[in-house]
Amino acid sequence: METICPRCGGSHFHYNRSRMRMECDTCGAPWLNPQQEQRLMEYDQTYAQALQHIQAGNWQQALQRLAPLVGQYPTDKKLHEAIIQAATQDFSDMTMRETAPRRQAEASWNALVRLHGITPVLRRYAAQKQERERERLQEHKARMRKWLFRAALCAIVLFLGLSFYSYSLVFLCFIGLLGCLYKVCLLDPLSLIYQARHPAPASSNPFTQSDWSYRIPISKNHR
Ligand SMILES: [Zn+2]
Repeated sequence: METICPRCGGSHFHYNRSRMRMECDTCGAPWLNPQQEQRLMEYDQTYAQALQHIQAGNWQQALQRLAPLVGQYPTDKKLHEAIIQAATQDFSDMTMRETAPRRQAEASWNALVRLHGITPVLRRYAAQKQERERERLQEHKARMRKWLFRAALCAIVLFLGLSFYSYSLVFLCFIGLLGCLYKVCLLDPLSLIYQARHPAPASSNPFTQSDWSYRIPISKNHR
């Protein structure tokens, strides 16, 4: 069967090694064999489906369609961007508590950095997320300070009670001290110490975070 160039009508083709494709001798238009065309069609359909799922808010289904595509076309920037859009629920999820979508977004972000494909939208999301994290940490520290202060107060009054032999006061303060220390433990002081010693660099991947930061409970304001 003779092949005709769809652009110029030429019938002679050669293999272009640098582009890894068959091209028309006369005009250089690429010639795709039926399998290649079939694959491209499948790509377009799957990508369109994924975008529809993103529009409809079906993040999981979108990611399920995008993951195999990005395996086939690892340098396709728009696939990586769509993955991040779906994983972050259209750039609205600032906490990224679920591990699976976070890992997908992290890999796509790394790929986009290498491909020079970080768009202003992505950069804005990263900045917002970092700001939220910072606020959350500050609030957490404030709560920790509040309970440590109350614990110290209980301890002081407890010693006063001891020196005045007021055992009912000692008992009350002891219960209060235990309660305050329990609250401090709930606030996970280890994760705060870890984060104070290992602050995340500003330019890093917004999805690469140590598991420590995910142990800090989210307050209602930062959900
Ligand atoms: Zn041609």
